[in-house]
Amino acid sequence: MAAHAVSVLITGANRGLGLEMVKQMVEASHPVRKLFACCRDPEGARAEGLQTLAKKHPNVIVVVRLDATDLSSIKQCAKQVGLEVGTGGLNLLINNAGVLAKSTLQETSAEDMQNAFNTNVLGPMNIIKEFLPHLRAAAKASGIPGMSTSKAAVVNISSFLASMETVKQSYALFPAISYRISKAGLNMLTLCAAEELKDDQILFSLLHPGWVRTDMGGEEGQIDAPESVQGMLSVMASLTEKQNAAFLDYEGRPLAW
Ligand code: NDP
Repeated sequence: MAAHAVSVLITGANRGLGLEMVKQMVEASHPVRKLFACCRDPEGARAEGLQTLAKKHPNVIVVVRLDATDLSSIKQCAKQVGLEVGTGGLNLLINNAGVLAKSTLQETSAEDMQNAFNTNVLGPMNIIKEFLPHLRAAAKASGIPGMSTSKAAVVNISSFLASMETVKQSYALFPAISYRISKAGLNMLTLCAAEELKDDQILFSLLHPGWVRTDMGGEEGQIDAPESVQGMLSVMASLTEKQNAAFLDYEGRPLAW
C-alpha cells in the first residue's frame, strides 16, 4: 500500500483527489510517516480543509507551498523536503495537480495550450528533476530489491483523455484539446523518465483516476473521490518493476496508449 511508504509528497493536495489522498493516507491502518501536502496557496481559503486535516495530524502532515508553474517554489519545496527527510529520502512523489480547459480545436488558443503545458507537463518535469536527489536517496536507503512505491516511485496522474487510440470514441463528448495533448505529453514524459532512470530503481507509473465528481470532473462524473482514491492507493501498493512505465486506471486495468 502507498501508505507503507515512509514519506510521500502530493501536489494539488488542497482539494479534489489530492485532498482525498491525504485523508486516506493519514487515516490508513498503516499510515504514512511523513506526508508533504503541497498546494499553491497554503494560507488561502481553498486550503482550509487541508489545514484542518493537518492540525489533526501535526506529526505526519507538512503543508508546503508548491506552485507547479513556478520553478522557484518547486526548488524551495525540494529544499525543505530534503531537510526533513535527510538520507532516508522521499519514497513516493505523486504529481496530481492539473488543469483542464474544455475547448475544441476551433475554440482553443495558444494561451490555453501554454497554460495546460505549464501545469500538466512542465510542472511534473521540473518537480521530478528537483526531487530526483531525494528519490535516489530513498532507493539507496531502502535496501529492498526491485521497485515499489514504498521504495522510490513517481506516480503521475494522467487521464483516459490522453489515450490516442480512443479519441474517436471520446472526442465528441470531451474535446478538451489542450488537456488531452498535455496529458499525452505527460505520458511521454513518464515513459522517458522510466527509461532514463531505470538503473536508479525508481518506479514510474501513470494512473487514470476514473471520471470522478470533483471540481474538474463535474457532477456528471461516474464515481466519488473516496472510491477513486481507494482504488488508486491499492493500485499504487501493488506496483512492482513489472508495472514500470504502465498506464493503468484506478482499478488496475491497463489503458490503451
Ligand atoms: P480539481 O480541479 O478538483 O483539483 C485540481 C488541483 O490541482 C487543485 O488542488 C489545484 O489547486 C491544483 N492545481 C492546479 N494548478 C496548480 C498549480 N499550478 N500548482 C499547484 N497546484 C495546482 O481536480 P481533480 O482533483 O479532479 O484532479 C486531480 C488530477 O486528476 C488532475 O491531474 C486531473 O487531470 C486528473 N484527472 C481527474 C479526473 C476527474 O474526473 N476528476 C479524470 C482524469 C484525470 P488550486 O486549488 O490552487 O487551484
